[in-house]
Amino acid sequence: MSGAEDIEAAILTDGSTNPLAWFAGMTDHCYAFAEAAKARGRPIAGIMCEFTPREILLAAGVVPVCLCGGSAATIPRAEQFLPANLCPLIKSTFGYHVTGTNPFLQSADLVVAETSCDGKKKMFELMGATKTMYVLELPHKADGADALEHWTREVRKFKEYAEQRFQTRITDEKLRDAAKLMNRERRLRRQLADLMTHDPPPLTGRQLIEFKSIISGIEEDLRQYERAIKMFEGAAGSAPPAQGGIRVLLTGVPLVHGAERVLELIEQAGSVVVAMENCTGLKPILDDVDLDDPDPLGAIARKYFHLPCSVMTPNTRRFDSLRSLAAKFRPDCVIELVWQACLTYDVESYHVRQLAEKELRLPYLKITTDYSPSDSARISARIEALFETIRARRPL
Ligand code: SF4
Ligand code: SF4
Repeated sequence: MSGAEDIEAAILTDGSTNPLAWFAGMTDHCYAFAEAAKARGRPIAGIMCEFTPREILLAAGVVPVCLCGGSAATIPRAEQFLPANLCPLIKSTFGYHVTGTNPFLQSADLVVAETSCDGKKKMFELMGATKTMYVLELPHKADGADALEHWTREVRKFKEYAEQRFQTRITDEKLRDAAKLMNRERRLRRQLADLMTHDPPPLTGRQLIEFKSIISGIEEDLRQYERAIKMFEGAAGSAPPAQGGIRVLLTGVPLVHGAERVLELIEQAGSVVVAMENCTGLKPILDDVDLDDPDPLGAIARKYFHLPCSVMTPNTRRFDSLRSLAAKFRPDCVIELVWQACLTYDVESYHVRQLAEKELRLPYLKITTDYSPSDSARISARIEALFETIRARRPL
C-alpha cells in the first residue's frame, strides 16, 4: 500500500455509505484527504482547467485540487480588483483568493494556470503576485501542423519544472501508474454517464453531476463510483418515464461545484439532462491515455491535447463530439449555457445552434447568465416554452 492509500484507508473508508451520500460530502472528504496528505509531506497543487495534465502532478507525488469557484458570495470582493463584466467563474475563483476562504488554495504549494481564455490569463497575473504559479501555454490553433509538438514540449517543460519544484524524479513508471489511475477514474465516470443512454435514465442529471471530486485519484471515490454503477445499473429502465420524458443535451461552459442552478432549472421544468458535453461533464473523460505508448509523457500530452475547448480555433472537435453524443444519448433538444462575458463560448454558440438546428434537427436554446439567481424565473419561462414546443411536435 502506498502512503496515500494508507491515509485514505485510515480516514476515508466507510463501507456502509451510499454513493450519493458519499459524494454529497465530497468537499469535506477532499479537505480531510488534502490535510492528511499535507501532514505526510505531500504538496498540494491547485489547478483551474481540464488541460492541466493531472498525471504529471500525481507522478510527482503532488495532490492536484481543482480550484474553480462556483460561489456567488466571493464575487463582490473580486470586483474590487477585476472588471464587473467578467465571467463569474473567474471572479468567483479570484474572490476565494482575495478573501482567503478556500482552504485548498490557501494551502496550495503551487497553482498551475494556463493560457486558455483572456479573462483567466489576466486574472492569473494578479493571483501570481502572491501565489507560486506555473503557466502552461496552450496552442490555440489545435489543427495546426506543429500544435501537438508545441503542446508536448509544454508538457515536458512542466514535468521538468515539477521535478525541480518538488525535488523529485518523475520516471516513466510513475507516469504510467498515474495514467493508469486516471484512466480508471475516467472509465468509471464514463460508465456512470453511459447509464443516461437508458430511457428512462436511472438517475437525473443533477444526481449525475454530484459524482465527481475536486481531487482526482482518491481510492475511496473510485470504490464509490463502482458501487454507484452497480446500484444504478440495477435500477436502469425499471422506473416510469421521468420528468415528462424530455431528454436534454447540455453544452457550453463548465457547471462548477455550487453553480448547478441552470441544470436544476432545466430538470425542474420537466426533463432529464442525459448528456453534459462541458468540462464538468463528458468533455475531459472521453479520451484516455494510451498505456501501451512507449513514451508515456507523449501519450499524456496527446490525451489532453484533444480537449475541444472553445478557446481553440477552429474548434471542430467539439462539433464532432456533439454529433456523436447526440447519436448516443438521443436528446430531444440542445441547451447551451454561457456564463456572462465568456466570449469564446458565446461566439462559438452560433456554430452550435447551426449544428443543432440544421444538421441534428434538434431545437436549440442558449442561456446566458451568471451565478446570481435573480433571472431564474425568466430562464425557467424560456425552458418551459422550449419544452412546450417539443411536446406539441410529438405524435399523440
Ligand atoms: S472550458 Fe476550456 S478553459 Fe474552461 S476548464 Fe474546460 S478546457 Fe479549460
Ligand atoms: S467560462 Fe469562458 S470566460 Fe469563464 S473561464 Fe471558462 S472559458 Fe474563460
